[in-house]
Amino acid sequence: MASKPTTSSKATKAAAGKSAAKKSTSKKMAPRKAAPKKTASRKRTPKQAALKKSTSSKRTTPKTQSTPKTKSARISKAELDARQGVIATALKMSVTGLSPGRSGNVSCRWNDGMLITPSGMPYEQIKSADIVFVDGNGQVGPRAKKPSSEWRFHLSAYKARPDMNAVVHTHSLHAVVLACAHKPIPAFHYMVALAGGDHIPLIPYAPFGTEKLADYVAVGISQIDACLMANHGQIALGKSLEQALELAQEIEIMAQQYVKVLTLGLPRLLRRREMQDVLERIKTYGQHAQKT
Ligand code: 13P
Ligand code: ZN
Repeated sequence: MASKPTTSSKATKAAAGKSAAKKSTSKKMAPRKAAPKKTASRKRTPKQAALKKSTSSKRTTPKTQSTPKTKSARISKAELDARQGVIATALKMSVTGLSPGRSGNVSCRWNDGMLITPSGMPYEQIKSADIVFVDGNGQVGPRAKKPSSEWRFHLSAYKARPDMNAVVHTHSLHAVVLACAHKPIPAFHYMVALAGGDHIPLIPYAPFGTEKLADYVAVGISQIDACLMANHGQIALGKSLEQALELAQEIEIMAQQYVKVLTLGLPRLLRRREMQDVLERIKTYGQHAQKT
């Protein structure tokens, strides 16, 4: 069990640093290819115009045009590490059985947006260039792969939780079972406190990839680090990718335990006062205890 470890991966450290700088505004936009920026046109003298004509035959874009992030801009070591961190997390999700088939997706905060897994690609085949940078307005570079269909709720999670740097979404078996029965995970066991509250809530159903689902996620994780998604799965947040994945694994274990407990009947739930006590104690648990 871990309480609130601080950021551990290099990638998310970089992300954390950069993320504080900007928060984006628009929510409505589809992930779209970034349009080249228009540069203010300057009037040229006839001589300049002639010179321009003779030297520009090879260059097809104005010098000042924004360069697509994914292609020609060199990827820094920090960004490469972040991309590889996303892939490593997705692979762990796959080998631990947390994401049956091609389900689930992973992202980490990057600049004003995030680096996210591409849509519908088997995790084993993903290379670092396939990881998609989606900016804070939902834009992607012209040569980028199609981002996860759930980019909207990843982005809305980062906007709702500036303290978090990574998002893991899975269709793990027992989380799905409870989510399909529309059962949140109550305080049947003190470990529900791991997500930062006295239960793991369930957000209402909305179709995958929609703005509505993104809105539900933003509300669902505003006060807590994980929730179940009706008729869908679960989402877990962390300060780092490792933390988000660990929480997703814990949620799945608790879901499994709760499903088993329900076969015996309704459990005696911990009372509010008891959970408040746990939430206090958990602050000083383990090696990464919050300093008070
Ligand atoms: P993507 O492959 O588009 O990320 O979709 C998987 C998923 O879980 C949708 O909710
Ligand atoms: Zn899903």
